[in-house]
Amino acid sequence: MAAENNNTQAWQALDAKHHLHPFTDTGALNQKGARVITKAEGVYLWDSEGQKMLDGMAGLWCVNMGYGRQELIDAAYEQMKTLPFYNTFFQTTHLPVAKLAQAIADVTPGDLNRIFFANSGSEAIDTIIRMVRTYWVTQGKPYKNTLIGRENGYHGSTLGGASLGGMSGMHKQGMPMVGGIEHIRQPYWYGEGGDMTEEAFGLACAKALEERILQVGPDNVAAFIGEPIQGAGGVIVPPANYWAEIQKICKKYDILLVTDEVICGFGRTGSWFGSQTLGIEPDLISMAKGLSSGYLPISAVAVGDRVADALETMGEDFNHGFTYSGHPAAAAVALANIELMKKENIVEYVAKDIGPYLQKKLRETLQDHPLVGTIDGVGLIAGFALMKDKTTKEQFPSDIDVGYICREHCFNNGLIIRAVGSRMVMSPPLVITHAEVDELCEKTKYCLDLTLESINQL
Ligand SMILES: *Cc1c(COP(=O)(O)O)cnc(C)c1O
Repeated sequence: MAAENNNTQAWQALDAKHHLHPFTDTGALNQKGARVITKAEGVYLWDSEGQKMLDGMAGLWCVNMGYGRQELIDAAYEQMKTLPFYNTFFQTTHLPVAKLAQAIADVTPGDLNRIFFANSGSEAIDTIIRMVRTYWVTQGKPYKNTLIGRENGYHGSTLGGASLGGMSGMHKQGMPMVGGIEHIRQPYWYGEGGDMTEEAFGLACAKALEERILQVGPDNVAAFIGEPIQGAGGVIVPPANYWAEIQKICKKYDILLVTDEVICGFGRTGSWFGSQTLGIEPDLISMAKGLSSGYLPISAVAVGDRVADALETMGEDFNHGFTYSGHPAAAAVALANIELMKKENIVEYVAKDIGPYLQKKLRETLQDHPLVGTIDGVGLIAGFALMKDKTTKEQFPSDIDVGYICREHCFNNGLIIRAVGSRMVMSPPLVITHAEVDELCEKTKYCLDLTLESINQL
């Protein structure tokens, strides 16, 4: 790719002409041109202008083992040479998928020992919707089919995922959404807790589940689903007592508990799964992103014995699956990724070393900044609110898109972190070093200073 620096405009024009971007105002983007990302190594990305950027988002919460890992590249290459594709529909299997199922079962908690494969987090979620409803049919309760999710939860972008998620901007596009889905409030204490103590608020948010169950009727509710820590909603860490209460309520009314671990899975919070970090015992877990460190698309649902046994003994096909369920190359990469994680003790590194280091460093560097409301996070996921007045918790007016302003400063100064409304979020690769964490925190602070300047000039 000689003279790549001269090609930015041509590539932008090509992109603008034929590419509709996901989660993007494509018209607005085409006015300015998309940033062209050309290569990556470790925790860094480069764009077509030659700018080097620290990827504080691990791609899209997924490149957990960092870029350029030869083991993952080799696994894909070798598998593609041997068997690039075969399906798993027609009473057939292959070694990568069988081995991967075992490797996942080995690291999942409890009795979640059987694995259904798909290609994306959204597909895993759609799988769960059909699976839990089918489960209750096998139990003679076809009416027990309502799923309860949360406002501002994110479960993907297929119609099922968007419906189960609680993002109002998504609900209004593609109406009507899937039926039989309810949403309760999110456990966002800093933003919505008012005068309540964190504990009282955690309890109240869990009670909201009980109230909704009673409203819908316990016999009509199939499952509750939540991200252990909300990711796309702005990295929202629930009060410490929240999940224990949710767990109790699900048990009391015999409702399946599902954790969507598409972000929290595979070491992000310092355990293999966020459920382990937060003390949740789910009946099903969805996973994707970190499963393959994003090198190839693959997702999975880990199914506990209760549901898996029912599916295995219902005496008919489970009429669900994807052409690429358990794709051999993707499975080989995911397997290599899990092996690499184990070889490098990466989960322990996040739990005991780099996770605590990031959380401490972030607070030391940013907590006193006039814009920063509070810093939330566990392991290598963190977020904070940008406030107009942090002492009175006054937000910026809606015509000042403070998150966007901050994100742009970051991008322009060699740092990628993401804005969710007025919250800034980060989830760097798990292999990030201490020096790189220092750079991440210092660049964030510098860009917050620039953000403050920009706002004062408005
Ligand atoms: C990203 C995400 C999804 C959707 O995954 P896709 O691969 O984009 O379909 C679902 N749930 C959670 C928690 C996510 O973060």
